[in-house]
Amino acid sequence: MPEVRKAVALISGGLDSLLAARVIQEQGIHVEGINFFTGFCVEGHTHAIRQKDKAKPKRNNALWVAEQLGIKLHIVDIIEEYKDVVLNPRHGYGANLNPCLDCKVFMVRKATEWIEKNGFDFIITGEVIGQRPKSQRKDTMPVIARESGADDLLLRPLCARNLEPSRPEREGWVDRSRLYNFEGRSRKPQMALAAQFGFDDYAQPAGGCCFLTDAQYSHKLADMWSSRGQRDYELDDIMLLKVGRHLRPRPHFKMIIGREEGENRFLHGYRKQFTHLFTTSHPGPLVLIDGELGEDDVELAAQIVARFSQGRSAEQVDVEIHPRGGDHHTCRVKPIAGEAIPGHWYI
Ligand code: SF4
Repeated sequence: MPEVRKAVALISGGLDSLLAARVIQEQGIHVEGINFFTGFCVEGHTHAIRQKDKAKPKRNNALWVAEQLGIKLHIVDIIEEYKDVVLNPRHGYGANLNPCLDCKVFMVRKATEWIEKNGFDFIITGEVIGQRPKSQRKDTMPVIARESGADDLLLRPLCARNLEPSRPEREGWVDRSRLYNFEGRSRKPQMALAAQFGFDDYAQPAGGCCFLTDAQYSHKLADMWSSRGQRDYELDDIMLLKVGRHLRPRPHFKMIIGREEGENRFLHGYRKQFTHLFTTSHPGPLVLIDGELGEDDVELAAQIVARFSQGRSAEQVDVEIHPRGGDHHTCRVKPIAGEAIPGHWYI
């Protein structure tokens, strides 16, 4: 009996990685999936928090893709190691703080280590030439293969016929004539192939699967780095950037204001780590303070919290202030007028 070759597919949860894995499965290759958790992933987390997204299915798309393919999925936590990719990308950033090329090199490198350890033969990705302006170009494909160390063990089934044959093709592990030559930004070829395979319910993320491609998110991250005077982060930092309105009234403190019930509940989990405020005379949001609230800042912060409560038109609103690690007290304030709110908003 011929040896069954084994491939690991990088599964993001989107359509391309789903199709790439299925194309290779169709050739009798044993495929397993690998998904990397960076902390910046969009799905699952914010969808689960926000009330307004309640109608959307709460599924982890990578797991869902694996289920559609009937394959095992290995979810690998890379939060710590990934920091260097975000903080010091050799190839720079895309339109926002997305270090896509370095990110791909890093993930394929991790997959290369994984196949060596687990006795797999090659790696599959759903990349398509020309799909993304910076990271998925004909000239960046060899960069990813070379810098990751995967070299010719990296196969992109959706555009392989536009590239030099990889080792799986040369050795006859896979039939090159049954691979594809997709190129460009159009999604039509992928949609047609999905229909051919009978996939009709797949994730179509608007700006990618990662918050780093989001302009507002990137502004908040850059603001956090500049206010702290250092480019670094912990998992809690990048999680909190996904939630609430962010307002920096003065350079030394930022307010994270829950936008609705789901977000208030989520922020509640952080109340012991942060100075926090909420209104007691009227329903309103929970607000965390990132930074230090000086004596001169308390009244302003309380007025802003009052402004975001249902007492925004009242003459007086009671606000409870809980300093981190200290005793709480209440202050009575007049809500600040919207146009008088100082500082910068990061929505
Ligand atoms: S969008 Fe995010 S996860 Fe995807 S390649 Fe770019 S940085 Fe990496």
